[in-house]
Amino acid sequence: MGKKVMKFQDVWFRYGEDLPWVLQDVSFEISASEWVAVIGHNGSGKSTIAKLMNGLLFPQKGKILINGLEVNEETIWDVRKQVGMVFQNPDNQFVGTTVRDDVAFGLENRGIPREEMIRRLKSSLAAVRMEDFELQEPHRLSGGQKQRVAIAGVLAVSPQVIILDEATAMLDPSGRKEIIETVKTVKEQDDVSLVTITHDLNEVTLADRVLVMNEGKVWMEAPPRSIFAKRDELKEIGLDIPFVTKLSAELTDRDVILDSEPLNHDELLEELW
Ligand code: ADP
Repeated sequence: MGKKVMKFQDVWFRYGEDLPWVLQDVSFEISASEWVAVIGHNGSGKSTIAKLMNGLLFPQKGKILINGLEVNEETIWDVRKQVGMVFQNPDNQFVGTTVRDDVAFGLENRGIPREEMIRRLKSSLAAVRMEDFELQEPHRLSGGQKQRVAIAGVLAVSPQVIILDEATAMLDPSGRKEIIETVKTVKEQDDVSLVTITHDLNEVTLADRVLVMNEGKVWMEAPPRSIFAKRDELKEIGLDIPFVTKLSAELTDRDVILDSEPLNHDELLEELW
């Protein structure tokens, strides 16, 4: 993998001096155009990591670097140009009365010239396949469509990294599928790194790498397949492997594949999404 766009170096974080450490000695790196999924049980520190990534919180020990720039009080505005966030509740993220105004809002705020603004507006709505919804009211859209608009709003600002913090948690299965598909397309087309934070392991199958958090520490960092091979250990830390991986293992074990073709796990994953 190429250039590192984000680095956590020996990061320690707690919410107060007399409170326990929520993150302990957390280190990892994210490369340009890489998709990293952060998983872990509730309370393992995932959201805290997301907030540290764009300067909503600062570590007490260690460093966070975005493109070599240390995240601190002085650099947060530069950092936030480079790190976009999409949150859990689609209804809390809208500022515009139409999809177009909403996506344009972040651009107007940054004083982008009008022609460039229109170009970015069109291309980011096209990237999430919402170009036909420009004049609609965001509140009338489905949950999946709302999150696609939120992703377009972030994309329009051309960040280096987009963080989706439980961005599918409030969506139904079809909404989730929409977002995963969108994330996949965005990753293929735009030169952007993605960090998806979730407690749902079904969503991480397409990521390049998975960071598993447990009790504030990085428990394992590897491609999805290597993570899912550790089914028993994952269970011990309160995580279950994706349905499709279970199915694949089960069918292979029972020898029920009729034409003696080994079951192709990757093809199954593609089918699933
Ligand atoms: P996750 O996203 O994995 O569920 P969080 O990062 O939200 O985990 O939380 C990690 C730990 O930090 C939990 O024990 C949680 O109770 C604690 N915590 C989160 N936010 C606060 C806060 N504002 N004040 C005090 N403790 C907090």
